[in-house]
Amino acid sequence: MAINHPDGHQPDSRLPCGRDLGTLHEHLTAGTLDAHEQACPGCRQAADAFAPALQAVVSLATQRPEPPAGFVESVMARIRADIRRTRYLALPAGSPSTLTITEHAASAIMSGAADTIPGVTSRGCRFPAPRDPTHVAISISLHYGLHAATAADHVRTTLRKAARTHLGIRLRQIDVSIDDVHTHGPDATRARSSTPTAPSPRMPGWC
Ligand SMILES: [Zn+2]
Repeated sequence: MAINHPDGHQPDSRLPCGRDLGTLHEHLTAGTLDAHEQACPGCRQAADAFAPALQAVVSLATQRPEPPAGFVESVMARIRADIRRTRYLALPAGSPSTLTITEHAASAIMSGAADTIPGVTSRGCRFPAPRDPTHVAISISLHYGLHAATAADHVRTTLRKAARTHLGIRLRQIDVSIDDVHTHGPDATRARSSTPTAPSPRMPGWC
């Protein structure tokens, strides 16, 4: 191994004993110090100077770093979201033109509409049938004390209106799933719990 100076100048890389520093470094790395290098004070001193860097290299090579908590889940959620970013739904357009929207974008519009309903927080929205923008499935968190069926009707009405207004489509099927109940938020004055809970975040991979 040649040890080059940054400006291209080749300094004298030989130790006083005549041993080349690059050769010594190679032998150290490979664990193959010869008899001279093991006995020569100059070589041993140079080897000691290399030791910290060599130790760091060996340590890095043998470590299996542990990912932080939740790392795998967040990567998988991103992968799922990316897949949905590239899945398109066809929207009405005057022939021969076409109009498409990613499932991700359409889901975000639906979730945004649901979030405008007091006491309702969208936990995620998706279009279960491939390429069919008229079938929506939404998961919500409901404020404690609200009537589930009434809230679900409100969600359906709001989503139908948003789909007509923003996407130009008439929704055929809207599946509402109440996956959580919260007591903290716009309807907090109606909560009976003494420990308010916030709505859960969006489900991984949903919009
Ligand atoms: Zn030497």
